[in-house]
Amino acid sequence: MALNRTHKWWILAGSLILLLGIIYVVKPEWLDFILRPSQRTIYERSFKERPEDLKTWEALTSIAFSDNIAINKPYSSYVVNESNAHASGYTIPIQYGEQLVVTIASDDKKHWILELRDGNHKLLEDARLKEGVLYATYTPESSQNLRVILQGKINQSAAGFLKIYTQPTYRFPVAGKGNHDIQSFWGAPRGGGSRSHEGNDIFAPKKHPVVAISYGSIYSIRNRGLGGKQVWVEDYDTGLLHYYAHLDSWSVYEDQMVWPGDTIGFIGNTGNAATTPPHLHFGIYKNGKAVDPKPFIWKITVPENSVQLKYSTKARAMGIAANLRETPDSNAGILQDLKRQEVIVLGNSGNWYQVRTSSGMTGYAHKSVLELIAD
Ligand SMILES: [Zn+2]
Repeated sequence: MALNRTHKWWILAGSLILLLGIIYVVKPEWLDFILRPSQRTIYERSFKERPEDLKTWEALTSIAFSDNIAINKPYSSYVVNESNAHASGYTIPIQYGEQLVVTIASDDKKHWILELRDGNHKLLEDARLKEGVLYATYTPESSQNLRVILQGKINQSAAGFLKIYTQPTYRFPVAGKGNHDIQSFWGAPRGGGSRSHEGNDIFAPKKHPVVAISYGSIYSIRNRGLGGKQVWVEDYDTGLLHYYAHLDSWSVYEDQMVWPGDTIGFIGNTGNAATTPPHLHFGIYKNGKAVDPKPFIWKITVPENSVQLKYSTKARAMGIAANLRETPDSNAGILQDLKRQEVIVLGNSGNWYQVRTSSGMTGYAHKSVLELIAD
């Protein structure tokens, strides 16, 4: 049977698929621009000829994945990747409205794998280089625990400063004001206890400007009910509605596009705020339901670099109240008494060494209870 047109196309398509298949097996990096593999996947290719190293690496990966350092405030540490390659894993509770930010400033940025994952280890974000630091950020669409996985590549030496902190999604809605001007929070009783406060009250002088907090459009302008003079802004990216109430006046019109920082109106005490000092009632609505706006706007100070303590790859506990703690804090929970154990040193946060015991438990020991063992 002669080859007709359809047959020729099938043969061509089949050959192309076969070729891509061969490339994927022999030279997978040629397809990276399409498949966008993670930094981990790219690194693990280098173990093709070194099965022993692959085993070591996989053991470190499982340590990092099961490691569970609970971070509940801005955190910074000095991290070291030496003969015992660095592997650590952190859990950070993120509220809806916050974004997680993780950075490593290191001279050897290519020697680290830094990832954000969800509670089921699913990769959410791979760190990339930004302004000279390794940088990863993630904004979840509901409150949840996120994971930070940090691993140093094996047989590579590197050190640097790690920072883990959150940032609000938005700028502050009242020009020049900040956290301490919020004087009534989500959930406070209202109407003699018949309802609960579905926003934040931000106090400022009458006629002080209130501003757009994201790119968006003016969804509606009203003068009615409890809110009095009010402006609703629809966030262009997320569809969330931002509610500005008790205004003295507005300076926008419906359907107008606004940029972050654009003045929307001016502080007042219209609606049921007639007898209270002027303030902005600020709310955020998702699918018609109010959510706590505080995490979206609450300003967080980026932590400073940690101090850099003297380092060696190993240390020994000195046996007197040598407690291994959950976080670098003398009030933190005690994981175990190290007694005279030898531990691996991963770095330090403030005056606390981050160490790992031979049984694989990670925690913090104060510098005063450890003696470094010379390398
Ligand atoms: Zn209010």
